[in-house]
Amino acid sequence: MTFTLGTGEDRALVIRMRGDEPVVPSANSLPGWVPGSRIATGTIAVVRALHQARQGVGGSGAQLADVDGGWDVSIGNVVLSSEGVPTCVGHGELAPAGDGVYRCETCGAAARYDRQP
Ligand SMILES: [Zn+2]
Repeated sequence: MTFTLGTGEDRALVIRMRGDEPVVPSANSLPGWVPGSRIATGTIAVVRALHQARQGVGGSGAQLADVDGGWDVSIGNVVLSSEGVPTCVGHGELAPAGDGVYRCETCGAAARYDRQP
C-alpha cells in the first residue's frame, strides 16, 4: 500500500497476510501508526477485504456496494469486518437503515450490503 504523508512524501508499506491476519512489519510503519489507531484499523480492514476478495470469499458471497450517489465503499470509508459486518473505518459497525442499506450513526457513511446465499 502507498500513503501520502502530510508532508507530501509518499511512503510504501508492505503488508503480508499470515493466514487471514494482515501482518505489518513494525520497522516499516508510518508516523502515528499504533495498533488500534484509525489508520492502522482502516488499513488492516482494507487489506483483509482485498485478500478476501481475491480469494473469492468476502463473507459468504456477500457484496458491499456504494449507495446511490455515495462513494463510501469506493474510497474505503466502509469495509466489511472480518466477521462480514459493514463497518465504518472511523466509528465501527454500521446500523441497518432498511432496504439493504447500512449507515454509520456518527458520520453518516453508508453502504448497500446484499447477502447472496
Ligand atoms: Zn462513521
